[in-house]
Amino acid sequence: MESYQETELAVVGAGYAGLTAASLARQAGKQVVLVEARDRVGGRVWTDHFPDGTYIDRGAQWAGPGQDRFYALARQTGVDTFPTHDEGMSLLCMDQRMKKYKGLIPPLPLPALLSLDFAIKKMNRLSAGIDPSAPWNHRRALEWDGMTLGGWMRAQLKSRKAHRLFTIAMEAIFAANPDELSFLFSLFYTRSGKDLDTLMNIRNGAQQDRLMGGADLPARRLAEALGDSVRLQAPVRMVRADDTSVEVCGDGFKIRAKALIIAIPPSQVLKIRFEPGLPVMKTQLMQRMPMGCVWKCYAIYDKPFWRAQGLNGLVATDFGYTSLVFDNSPRDGEKGILMGFVLADKARAFSNLQETERKASILSSLARFFGPAASNPLLYTDQCWATEEWSGGCYTGIMGPHTMTAFGPELRRPTGRIHWAGTETSDIWNGYIDGAIRSGERAAAEVLAYL
Ligand SMILES: Cc1cc2nc3c(=O)[nH]c(=O)nc-3n(C[C@H](O)[C@H](O)[C@H](O)COP(=O)(O)OP(=O)(O)OC[C@H]3O[C@@H](n4cnc5c(N)ncnc54)[C@H](O)[C@@H]3O)c2cc1C
Repeated sequence: MESYQETELAVVGAGYAGLTAASLARQAGKQVVLVEARDRVGGRVWTDHFPDGTYIDRGAQWAGPGQDRFYALARQTGVDTFPTHDEGMSLLCMDQRMKKYKGLIPPLPLPALLSLDFAIKKMNRLSAGIDPSAPWNHRRALEWDGMTLGGWMRAQLKSRKAHRLFTIAMEAIFAANPDELSFLFSLFYTRSGKDLDTLMNIRNGAQQDRLMGGADLPARRLAEALGDSVRLQAPVRMVRADDTSVEVCGDGFKIRAKALIIAIPPSQVLKIRFEPGLPVMKTQLMQRMPMGCVWKCYAIYDKPFWRAQGLNGLVATDFGYTSLVFDNSPRDGEKGILMGFVLADKARAFSNLQETERKASILSSLARFFGPAASNPLLYTDQCWATEEWSGGCYTGIMGPHTMTAFGPELRRPTGRIHWAGTETSDIWNGYIDGAIRSGERAAAEVLAYL
């Protein structure tokens, strides 16, 4: 039998955006129902706990300076942060050669270093002039939105080594090939997280801190407080809207609400049937925001043995599938955990391998970086995000050319009583958890203004 419920606000998607919006509406005394397709909350943030108490973040994991809303939520939900381990030497493995280095400046020949430094500073300078709440208004918006980041990089980075390292950095930031990205979108995204240095760095950057208990703990605490207002395993299939209410339908349930917040990735919106159909601009925007592509690969050891070799676990490389490796060990170093990102085109190619091949490939890379001990972890596990039914990819919805200028103003525009949240709609920290939280706050304010 179909269940029927009436409420003031319905929210679709229990990621950080939807949970924030639902919690704020509840605090304002409104009746809320939050519907989530998965059997868990957190969305693109998912902490996996093992029987021995070890846990890994299969999705998002870091917070850094400027992400004030994320830190505030961690404090509010009683979750501590701890610094990402980065003490020791980093490794650069390019053109089959491995070099150790300390600090932020990679051991490249001087012309390559100068070229890299010039490109980073130039991208910072151009992005500083962008208004993140309306990037399409920039005087050069049309020109930049007609170009790709990849095209700009080829014009700027004449040194092959510098180009390669810059590509690794951009793929790590966007989980996309630079040729997929509009240059205007890339500048906006950079500005939205302050600058490239902030996006790239551990200390004073977006990779500075991790969350004790895992990055989904604040989400689980928000859901606990919302209690039975959260309905799991309830994918929304259809939304019917009229001038006074919105009806949200899924398998065996129907919810009628005075307002609706949709807090899911843009490409997932296309799976929902709308009656009447969404405005053409909104639908076409959703069709133009594909998800990035990333795998997270984990090798868990009984201790972080690389630290004794003076290494901090950080590797940037063009060798094999993983292009960046981090020390993801727990704060107390009770276990040693290495995490490798496989990104963009390499992530798509990696998806064609069987698990045994993926494991063999990643472990052989790790052994090359850290020695034979890396070949024998207690556990290897990896996580593909493109095959996640309710994400379709990660980290975020990206924009190719001619999307930001033609469709950008649609990102946050409400559709009658339907309001739009999700990190992709945020002007600040777009693509990050912090942006998701901010988008939930904005959407909640929109509906509370008339509910
Ligand atoms: C591998 C990886 C690494 C990342 N690293 C970081 C990081 O270190 N730091 C950082 O800040 N960010 C990082 N991100 C990005 C971050 O995870 C996202 O920006 C953020 O979690 C998005 O939150 P959201 O609420 O907007 O969307 P989501 O988390 O995607 O939430 C949307 C929810 O809606 C649900 N849903 C979808 N369709 C339906 C439907 N039809 N009906 C009902 N429910 C539906 C989904 O199941 C999901 O729970 C990373 C992401 C990934 C995947």
